[in-house]
Amino acid sequence: MRKKIIAGNWKMNKTIADAITLVDGLKVDLSGCVEVEVVVCPPFTALKSVGDKLTNTQIKLGCQNMSAEEDGAYTGEISHSMLKELFVKYVILGHSERREYYKETDCVVNKKVKKALEKNLRPIVCVGEKLAEREAGKTEAVVEAQVRGSLADITAEQFENVVVAYEPVWAIGTGKTATSEQAQEVHAFIRGIIRDMVGEKAANGLRIQYGGSMKASNAKELLAQPDIDGGLIGGAALEARSFIDIVKAAM
Ligand code: PEP
Repeated sequence: MRKKIIAGNWKMNKTIADAITLVDGLKVDLSGCVEVEVVVCPPFTALKSVGDKLTNTQIKLGCQNMSAEEDGAYTGEISHSMLKELFVKYVILGHSERREYYKETDCVVNKKVKKALEKNLRPIVCVGEKLAEREAGKTEAVVEAQVRGSLADITAEQFENVVVAYEPVWAIGTGKTATSEQAQEVHAFIRGIIRDMVGEKAANGLRIQYGGSMKASNAKELLAQPDIDGGLIGGAALEARSFIDIVKAAM
């Protein structure tokens, strides 16, 4: 039985003051939540303040990117040790916005995934096709290449600490959600690739989140699908009530 995981990706939103207001709002309902794993991923600048607020709660701290390097002359980058110092547990890697705007390839994502696992951070690895790719019938080919490339050389044992997020790019921030059938089909496909890569046990244990305009009104149906094990939430994670309602839909 896979425990559902709902993660909020706050992206480049929230000053420290706004982040504190949001996390205070989340804590009212989610502090003691154990039925669902809840993760919040504020911007780097708010990690310390949000992390302090999460002390003695069940809500976990995540971030939105990480360098694959150890340390040194990498202007603007953040290393695993800097994140661990702030008690970060999860790191979103290979988000479509990183792939599109910052040209992160599967090879770059793979290096980051390996570094995160080596340092006991849990990667949330994002994959998903663009609208033109779906319309050209290339969804499976694109997703398979991303899964195999981003997760190359990860062992079955390491997969216990990996989460995959299937995020069709055409559904991110657009209000267009994949239907639960469309999402389930790709989730089952991804699990099949993982089975082929590292075997049945790791594939069955892997949690695969859906992301793309998930909100309280569509979450229940999506999360009821057999291979959908949670959600990666953008817009609806920026307001306490809507995020809490999604977590409740996962219970
Ligand atoms: C995301 O960017 O990971 C995401 C799912 O965004 P939204 O929920 O706003 O579509």
